[in-house]
Amino acid sequence: MQNALWQNILSEVSSLVDSTTFETWFRQLKVAANEEDARTLLIDAPNQFVVDFMEQHYKLKLLSIGRKHSPDLERIDFTVAAAREAFHLPPEAEKKTASLAMPKPSLSTPLFNHNFTFDSFVLGPGNEFAKSAALAVANAPGKTKFNPLLIYGGVGLGKTHLLQAVGNQLVSQRKDLRVAYSSSEEFYLNFIDAIKNNSTRKFSEHYRASNILLIDDIQFLSGKESTQEEFFYIFNTLYQNQRQIVLTSDLPPNSLKGLQDRLISRFQWGLCVDIQPPNLETRVAILKKKAEQDNLSIPESILIFIAENVSSNIRELEGIIIRLLAYASITRRDITIDLVKSILKGNQKQEKTKFSIEEIIDKVADYYKVPVNNIREKNRRKEVAFCRQLAMYIVKAYTNYSLKSIGLHFGGRDHSTVIHAIQHIEQIKEKDSSVSSDIEHIVSILSEEHS
Ligand code: ADP
Ligand code: MG
Repeated sequence: MQNALWQNILSEVSSLVDSTTFETWFRQLKVAANEEDARTLLIDAPNQFVVDFMEQHYKLKLLSIGRKHSPDLERIDFTVAAAREAFHLPPEAEKKTASLAMPKPSLSTPLFNHNFTFDSFVLGPGNEFAKSAALAVANAPGKTKFNPLLIYGGVGLGKTHLLQAVGNQLVSQRKDLRVAYSSSEEFYLNFIDAIKNNSTRKFSEHYRASNILLIDDIQFLSGKESTQEEFFYIFNTLYQNQRQIVLTSDLPPNSLKGLQDRLISRFQWGLCVDIQPPNLETRVAILKKKAEQDNLSIPESILIFIAENVSSNIRELEGIIIRLLAYASITRRDITIDLVKSILKGNQKQEKTKFSIEEIIDKVADYYKVPVNNIREKNRRKEVAFCRQLAMYIVKAYTNYSLKSIGLHFGGRDHSTVIHAIQHIEQIKEKDSSVSSDIEHIVSILSEEHS
């Protein structure tokens, strides 16, 4: 039962992350015990390093995927398999002593990641303004003109870091204020829970009673009408009472699709500020800071080499360092440029590029019996639109094409249309499992032709 659930989670994860990440971090995870309690999933990891990594980077994602398959799931815990064997601890006992529990996203006082502070945030031309705005807000919440403050920018550029820095500073310096922090995903999951348990009032009061509301990745609320409704109500109450609101998003407000206009216009009442990808100097500085923070001695020449070869995304930069350490510790090799090179090579998601957009469109058209040209062009018939969205979804999941170039291949649509299409298919998949099996089917046809 729990094995099946974990297999479902893994197969979804494997379509979300690149193959190296999957092999390095996920492949070795196993269900530790088939517990009767459907609310908990206990996962064995090979070492503490992997446990920490999972806790830090994937716990919420795994939980939210898990809940799609098993709505009763409340927590996923990680333990170190070897430690349990060494001490002959049964999984239950291990769980209590190890305190590696992953709490279900809750409404209690938020815990911020101690690493995400203003001090540890390295400044560069692309993020200076965003940092100053966040700092101003943290110093005088609700009292600046920056309300709401919306920080937007691409993946892994420091939005969550800044949002949590605001939280960290407020929690430590302003104990008189109540800080509410949620990712939009948590906000949504908690809201769904509240509806299920008839406690929407408590949910709403929790947020409306806060002095500062921090919501991460607001684009995630796209298409979720009733959650947006609730958020709108909370937003208004807080705003009228001059409480501080800080939001992050992957796109500027006017490019956010699937969000109500009245929300988008409110996002623009205060200050919207973007974060741009870091330049080379900033990347090197960030790597140095990370290495210092984690007490790692990695030669400067290697840090520079990494910074030169990973350009845009800071999370990816960190990912390289983590992988580098994992490889070096597992294989007991020294950290050398050659090791870095082989890791960077694995990072290029080579396997993903094997299908072309044309092939994918062909196969989708074939499968659903619609003309290929209709998929590319501006045909609004419902079943054609569905095929187009599904094709975009497969392209995104199984190739390296950027959102922008996907849009261009589908009749010159812009990247936000592509994002919308992908989200739409994700929503349909949740409700209708036949769509998932259609996708698997189409992908297996594509794979066969490539084998
Ligand atoms: P986003 O939310 O924009 O996707 P994150 O805030 O999660 O990105 O940042 C990804 C990683 O990069 C985090 O570990 C964060 O600490 C780090 N990071 C991003 N920007 C900086 C910066 N300017 N200085 C130091 N670390 C940074
Ligand atoms: Mg983020």
